[in-house]
Amino acid sequence: MGLTRIPGLLFGGDYNPEQWPEEVWREDVRLMAEAGVNLVTVAVFSWSRLEPAPGVYEFGWLDRVLDLLHANGVAVDLATATATPPPWLVREHPEIQPVDAAGTRLEFGSRQGYCPSSPVFRAATVRLARAMAERYREHPALAMWHVSNEYADHTAECFCAESARDFRRWLQARHRSLDGLNAAWGTSCWGQHYTDWTQVEPPRKAPGPVNPAQLLDWRRFSSDALLACFEAERAVLKEVTPDVPVTTNFMSVLRDLDYWKWAECEDVVTDDAYPDPADPRAAVKAALSYDLMRSLKRQPWLLLESAPSAVSWRPVNVPKDPGVMRLHSLQALAHGSDGVMFFQWRQAKYGPEKFHSAMLPHGGTATRRWRETLALGADVRRLAEVAGATTRAEVALLLDWESWWGLEAPESMPSDRLRLHELLLSWYAPLHARGVAVDLAPPGRDLSGYRLVIAPNLYLCTAEHAAALAAFEGRLVVGPFSGVVDAADQVHDGGAPGPLRDLLGVRVEEWRPLPDGVTQELVTTDGTRLLARTWTEWLDAEETEGTDVLARYRGGPLHGRPAVTRRGAATYLSCLPEDPAPLLDDLLTAAGVTGVAGAGLPADVEACRRGRYLFLLNHGAGPATVTLPEPGTDLLTGRALPAGPVTLGPRDAVVLKPRPTTP
Ligand SMILES: [Zn+2]
Repeated sequence: MGLTRIPGLLFGGDYNPEQWPEEVWREDVRLMAEAGVNLVTVAVFSWSRLEPAPGVYEFGWLDRVLDLLHANGVAVDLATATATPPPWLVREHPEIQPVDAAGTRLEFGSRQGYCPSSPVFRAATVRLARAMAERYREHPALAMWHVSNEYADHTAECFCAESARDFRRWLQARHRSLDGLNAAWGTSCWGQHYTDWTQVEPPRKAPGPVNPAQLLDWRRFSSDALLACFEAERAVLKEVTPDVPVTTNFMSVLRDLDYWKWAECEDVVTDDAYPDPADPRAAVKAALSYDLMRSLKRQPWLLLESAPSAVSWRPVNVPKDPGVMRLHSLQALAHGSDGVMFFQWRQAKYGPEKFHSAMLPHGGTATRRWRETLALGADVRRLAEVAGATTRAEVALLLDWESWWGLEAPESMPSDRLRLHELLLSWYAPLHARGVAVDLAPPGRDLSGYRLVIAPNLYLCTAEHAAALAAFEGRLVVGPFSGVVDAADQVHDGGAPGPLRDLLGVRVEEWRPLPDGVTQELVTTDGTRLLARTWTEWLDAEETEGTDVLARYRGGPLHGRPAVTRRGAATYLSCLPEDPAPLLDDLLTAAGVTGVAGAGLPADVEACRRGRYLFLLNHGAGPATVTLPEPGTDLLTGRALPAGPVTLGPRDAVVLKPRPTTP
């Protein structure tokens, strides 16, 4: 069973017919058929056209769109159209517009202009979602519901009076009493002791650093407030159309929303991914976000939006060179997506996204862009059998949103250079380069089945987290500045690594962050020299029985002190090595993990196994030779390939279906 009732892989994009006269629609569906489009996302920003006045619905145009699409074999990911409230609602209820941290109420004229906590806004979205569900419940084009759009893209938090009331309700449920809140927030510091709930406000712009415990609760609350918006619409859709899958499009590795929690509330994980073609790390960043999407529900997901070429919202928007759209699309399939979807089908004539690329560009069909769209559609059809195939990873990277939020509190940390996305990438990139499949996992999850688990950082660490890690039987690596605080952002008694102390067999005496450009040398017991940047620690390890020192600092005030330690199967790193490869190779060997294509993978080639299919992707601008571990058929070309060397052209790929072994 796939993500939807559509067989094979999904191919298509956002479709905004309301921006075009109806004669263009007929050309659209003709060209969609030519390209092999089988799914489009419709009505994302259509609220003002579907409900032009309170309770007055104009569904006629959308009826005709859905009928036309269905008649031409295109199914619909139908948005509930609630991503941007219409002008009449905003003017009648100006209080639904969001307020920023400085107290400015934001104006109408863009998108996502709503306060997540507004009861007026939530009620209006639920009314529209119900009207949509009742109108289209039996429509044969309906394949999936798309609630709102890119939650937290522009409005991740709102600081208005209504949000303040909602925040207080949320705090009362969490902390029960004002005494509980005062204790959890440590309000004895800086004279913040509250004597009445009405004194408690969101962490608006203040003269200096705001209370980090208040900020942590605020980030929890803000993720929950948006989730409540999603849940309210989802409940209506499930009531009216229980069998239609419901999703909302995520935004890759996004700090603002706890996607573990969100993914539990949706049927299908979908993602919008816009790696920057000008970023040399685009491919590895994209791979990390795709692996996160695959890990959220541990099932195939869908790349719901990507850019055929340039986007329009960066300061400089570099287009994709020939072949890059195809390569990036194949990469998403390699990492578990059951389709390739774009923003958007037809390039806009007006609005802020008129220069954002599309499957069908301003220049029409006599363009490279359109030829690449047609060719990609054909490739996607050739790979139909990959749909539903799952990935088995032996390595997991731990990611915890609460820890992330705590770690990145402004103006109150030993260093603001520890950024969780970068810490994840520092481990993910060398794993990716070795063709090692990686899952992401929350720290409380049952980790059995993995051979190696890496926690790049676990700043916020509870007893439950520690118990889950202690119960894990494989190799474990914990990165620096972990086990520092509890769920209330209060430092563990005795200092770091707090509840991980027995497991790791170390005690951290002092944080020693490094200024930019400064390095600290460390040497492993076998003489390998490494350089640390950004962070080091004064570590005590010898006092704990059974803790071995794997590397020591050399030079400076830390000279001779432990830098990397191991107790049992648990390794602790007190620093950030510039290149963790030597440590990683030892860990992979000890854990018995080998990459897909062994050690001989060329630098620009990504190797990724999905089910029995082996994806080899050459991200480089020149040819690259890879050794196939087994014979098989390249699904993209139909060529039979023997085991052994195969040369990939620039930006080219092989999707190998291994030859079945005869018993
Ligand atoms: Zn608000």
